[in-house]
Amino acid sequence: MMSSTTSLHPWTACLTSLKEKLSEDVYAQWILPLKVFDLSEFQVSLAVPANLDMDQLGRMYLGLIEHCYQEANGREVRIQLRRMPSTVASSMGNAHPFTGMPVIDLNPNYTFEEFVVGSNSQFAYSAALAVAKDPGGTKFNPLLIYGGVGLGKTHLLQAIGNFVVGENPRKKIRYVTSEAFYREFVESIQHNRINELSNYYRNEVDLLLMDDVQFMSGKDRTQEEFFHIFNSLHQSRKQIVLTSDAPPGELKGLEDRLVSRFQWGLFVDIQPPDRETREAILRRKAVALNLDISDDIIGFLAEAIDSNIRVIEGAIRQLLLQASIKHSDITMELAKEIVNRTGLNRPSKKVTPEDITTVVANYFVVEVDKIIEQGRGTKEVAQARQLAMFLMKELTSASLKTIGQRFGGRDHSTVVHAIKTIEKAMEKDDSFKKSVDAIMGKLSARG
Ligand code: ADP
Ligand code: MG
Repeated sequence: MMSSTTSLHPWTACLTSLKEKLSEDVYAQWILPLKVFDLSEFQVSLAVPANLDMDQLGRMYLGLIEHCYQEANGREVRIQLRRMPSTVASSMGNAHPFTGMPVIDLNPNYTFEEFVVGSNSQFAYSAALAVAKDPGGTKFNPLLIYGGVGLGKTHLLQAIGNFVVGENPRKKIRYVTSEAFYREFVESIQHNRINELSNYYRNEVDLLLMDDVQFMSGKDRTQEEFFHIFNSLHQSRKQIVLTSDAPPGELKGLEDRLVSRFQWGLFVDIQPPDRETREAILRRKAVALNLDISDDIIGFLAEAIDSNIRVIEGAIRQLLLQASIKHSDITMELAKEIVNRTGLNRPSKKVTPEDITTVVANYFVVEVDKIIEQGRGTKEVAQARQLAMFLMKELTSASLKTIGQRFGGRDHSTVVHAIKTIEKAMEKDDSFKKSVDAIMGKLSARG
């Protein structure tokens, strides 16, 4: 995979490459008006102005945009198209009080209807629907949906929002990731506007959808603020729905009192889809994209891509893109080629050492630099380093020597020791093993 050697923002690099690939008119009409307005690890949201046909844009150019962005970025991302508020006036009306950013509209595709329910998600789906039908009125407050990457947590969370707006457009819904909430909070401190932030959340929100609460971990003041907001909303019987990558009891770096609040209502998990569900999802996505794709190929993909749903979607879009580049039908050869070339069936091969140190550092809430430094560091740092070494052994083709070198020039026996320590810990401690599995899943999902 190519990684950009320039310091350009991947979007800028992507634009340059799109300009080369498309005619001037097409570029000016379809690409230039797009604006990046939200970035996360796996996802880039592009705002689409009201005068562009979003369906057409998606059908004709999304695959290409994604392709170029990934080339520029060096790692798989999902590009999402979102409607930009139609006029400047309404966008100002919708501007977020603290960031001046437009309030992120819910993705209209994330609905209950579009969600394929399997035995892996049945319970989460039912709970989400119950809450959407009667926000604040059920015992499920808060509702916490947890599970691995790309399994549909954000989809269900926003489906609740979309359902509630559909029933009552005047309901004030706030969808926010905990990272964005953290940024808002920091900004409100900088501008002496904490009270405003707090009043906004307490008084101007009827339904709070907070995505990926685990990103608040280690951010104590943000957690404290959120704790108060949570209490206030809960007291006024406003519905709160949360998602996280782990069950409440295993959320590291979050304050106990916050975690105990998360357990007040209901917490439900989403598991990876089984073979039948994968097939059903593939079918649904193919129909949505108007793809003519045979049962054989669907079956092959459902078998080969034993991974999360985001990856399944990526495969379908790759197929569409390749078929259109080659002006060919979607054949089994093409499907096989994509599965092999992109290594969708062997995600672990492509994990980089940087991915590992980043994810592990996040998980232990330590700095990446500390892990690769020479000194031992705190207990957390030492543990994080051992785990990173173990994962590098498991997930990359690096030799023990190379691994040692990457971590402050440690020798190979240190690496062996680290690996053994982690293996033992996994044997002894089931919840640690689960965490390691979750981290591996997370890394593999990065493709
Ligand atoms: P998460 O938030 O758990 O990482 P997302 O909700 O972002 O995952 O889901 C990833 C992608 O997969 C989204 O495009 C979503 O629409 C799709 N998806 C996930 N679960 C399902 C499902 N059960 N049925 C249909 N699409 C799904
Ligand atoms: Mg998500």
